[in-house]
Amino acid sequence: MTSEESGTVIAAHGRHYLVEVGDVRLQCVTRGKKSDVAVGDVVRLKRTSADQGVIESIGERRTLLYRSDQYKSKLLAANLTQLFVVVATEPGFSDDLVSRALVAAEAGGIAAHLVLNKIDVETALPRARERLALYAGLGYPVHEVSATAAPEATRTTLLPLLQGQSTILIGQSGMGKSSLINLLVPDADIATREISAALDSGKHTTTFTRLYRMGSDAAIIDSPGFQEFGLHHLSEGMLERAFREFAPHLGHCRFYNCHHLTEPGCAVLSAVASGEIAGMRHDLYRQLVHESEQTIGY
Ligand code: GDP
Ligand code: ZN
Repeated sequence: MTSEESGTVIAAHGRHYLVEVGDVRLQCVTRGKKSDVAVGDVVRLKRTSADQGVIESIGERRTLLYRSDQYKSKLLAANLTQLFVVVATEPGFSDDLVSRALVAAEAGGIAAHLVLNKIDVETALPRARERLALYAGLGYPVHEVSATAAPEATRTTLLPLLQGQSTILIGQSGMGKSSLINLLVPDADIATREISAALDSGKHTTTFTRLYRMGSDAAIIDSPGFQEFGLHHLSEGMLERAFREFAPHLGHCRFYNCHHLTEPGCAVLSAVASGEIAGMRHDLYRQLVHESEQTIGY
């Protein structure tokens, strides 16, 4: 007879999960076709052998971060406390992806920070700072680092922010996310190799999300680089609240059910017209409302 145990999901690859139970790692599958388990989930499982198990149930989640397209949503991680968007001086970063990540964090009840990496590339620094001023102005902290040129200073800047937190790092490829992870998690390479071997996905080491422990009270979650961050699952009501600069204007539109798109007397639109709300952010809001209307799957 096997009894149930509790563990934390530290990697997910398709329907295969690696679950940490104490200091043992078990390769797990879910019962039936369920595949709604996320990295960071605390699960109940039954061991089927010394290093394998079956996930029976998922514990209550404090937070859940996901992205979605028209047809389905994809869980990114559960029980996060914060999200760091990694951008760089060069190659250029996408404002669209940055804002989408910030919107996802707001909607998921997760704090969000920006990390500007490669500040040693001085020629590109002023422009990057200028572009990030928009987000700093919204109250998102921006941390300037250089993973390769100033590794110690980078650790000094970031490590205290990670204490006691469960942090996901998100970024386009080329921003230096792997360099940062390797700097912050000393044995990250070894851990990744072990996880890949356990999940039998050695050829795809960057295609799965994984959780690294940092001491006893912190975790870093590395997600594969992505090019798209669909947010089709967010309703219009969630979207207007996920743009934090809209907050002072909500409730001040002429129509109580204003969509903030074309309505006369819209307080949000007049803040866009006066420059108080950045046009680029409202354009994204408009795009996301459109996306949420296109959802035909779940
Ligand atoms: P990822 O795709 O986001 O995981 O990025 P990588 O960590 O693989 O880094 C992409 C490239 O940027 C590599 O050639 C790194 O050596 C380089 N890189 C990373 N951090 C820095 C930095 O702080 N300064 C400079 N100049 N290059 C960096
Ligand atoms: Zn309005």
